[in-house]
Amino acid sequence: MLIRGGRALTPTADWHQPACVDIALADDTIVGISDAYEIEDGSAVEVIDARDHLVLPGFVNAHYHSHDVLAKGTLEEVPLESWRLYALPPQYPPRSVEEIHARTLLGALECLRSGMTTIQDMLTLYPYDERHMDAVMAAYEQVGIRVVFALQYADRKGIDTIPFWKDTFPAELHPLLSTAAEPERKLDLISHFEATRLQAPPRPLISWALGPSAPERCSPALMQRTMELARRYDIPVYTHIYESRGMALQARLTLPQYSGLLVRRLADEGVLDPRLNLAHSVWLSREEIELLAEHGAGVVLNPQGNLKMKCGIPPIRTLQDAGVRVGLGCDNCSCSDAQNMFVAMKLFALLAAVSDPIPGPPQAAAAIRAATESGADGARLGNLIGRIAKGFKADLTLIDMNDPSWSPLNSAARQLVHIEAGRGVRTVLVNGKVVVRDRTLTSVDERTIYQAVKAVMPGFRKDFAEISARVARLQPWLDRAHRQIVDAEVDVERLPFQ
Ligand SMILES: [Zn+2]
Repeated sequence: MLIRGGRALTPTADWHQPACVDIALADDTIVGISDAYEIEDGSAVEVIDARDHLVLPGFVNAHYHSHDVLAKGTLEEVPLESWRLYALPPQYPPRSVEEIHARTLLGALECLRSGMTTIQDMLTLYPYDERHMDAVMAAYEQVGIRVVFALQYADRKGIDTIPFWKDTFPAELHPLLSTAAEPERKLDLISHFEATRLQAPPRPLISWALGPSAPERCSPALMQRTMELARRYDIPVYTHIYESRGMALQARLTLPQYSGLLVRRLADEGVLDPRLNLAHSVWLSREEIELLAEHGAGVVLNPQGNLKMKCGIPPIRTLQDAGVRVGLGCDNCSCSDAQNMFVAMKLFALLAAVSDPIPGPPQAAAAIRAATESGADGARLGNLIGRIAKGFKADLTLIDMNDPSWSPLNSAARQLVHIEAGRGVRTVLVNGKVVVRDRTLTSVDERTIYQAVKAVMPGFRKDFAEISARVARLQPWLDRAHRQIVDAEVDVERLPFQ
């Protein structure tokens, strides 16, 4: 296959005025990039006309959860601690195989149509059911998107890890305050995952990862076991850290032996490692950022959800200055709502501008790298995806530049980050296969996905309404506990302009 005449963001190109090139593919791999390839008459080469298109490495959505795809647009802005009760309540009745299949397809469709070729799905399946896991895998394979898949787990209860909750809520309400990412009592989930997935024959587009929900919700033994497995199989680990002030406060209040620093706890337990990816990282202290840099651990920023959940602005410039790997994600559909890397890149560049009052390096190219290369590196796939180069997998996104966003062409990088919003995504290739052609999914009829979603929504809506009514009853105590988190006079180090 030949991708002909597109302006390609190759590692050596001028990203403001990229030259037009031909990209040659053999099966799933990029085999050459040239000014112009000659094609012999009658040859069987398929040509994709990429003239007037920008050709990017497909985006890597480095933090995503497919479990609440159907809850997009259900919530206004709420504090993170309250939101978790909507997103992951264990009191949800078990979901049907049909619902899990439909939501996974829909999420993958949205990601592909917005130019993502790889997603990191950190999935909570509760109670765990092998049929649900099979439905997820089947959906991803049908659609043809690349997935870095982790099951989410923990062994400590949420109520024990959020400041003021235990004392604020009456004891009879405590059972309502946990979430489904917590102990799976009937099953040793990690051993099961190892036996059924890590040791099974590889799947072409699915690679495995581990998903301890958050260090404060996981015992030291569980974190160490996680990292032991990650090293044995050389797979990445994704976890959440310091998304909200409450999470930072919890560390400051409960970890005196580590000066209140959760990252110091991780260093002490020997789990800081290049395989580790810390989603959010909004409230990292300077010392913790230095520890991450020293050990090669990375972060994944999710600016959309951080703002909507009232969490704050990550210290982007300090992370960059320290040389920490910074990936980008779009997180849950019930808090970020959009799986859209264009929005994430724009927010990244804008928040970088206010994360340090002193003017710094240009951010457009940095945002694109975060959305491609860094996500790939964090997934331990940096030698296969995230760049347009010989020997890399053909995961490519073609943006149609016949659009006001691109006229006049002053800077491809800046216009991609600050103007394009996803309207231009026309063609997407994953592993050398065209999965989106002329803005339409080729692998599955999109109408069947919308119909499948429509069919399961009455059941989902009924259960979500019950959950919402339950959270509404908890609201007075939630508000009181949140006020205490906001007002607590504890030294939570703030970096400039946070
Ligand atoms: Zn998350």
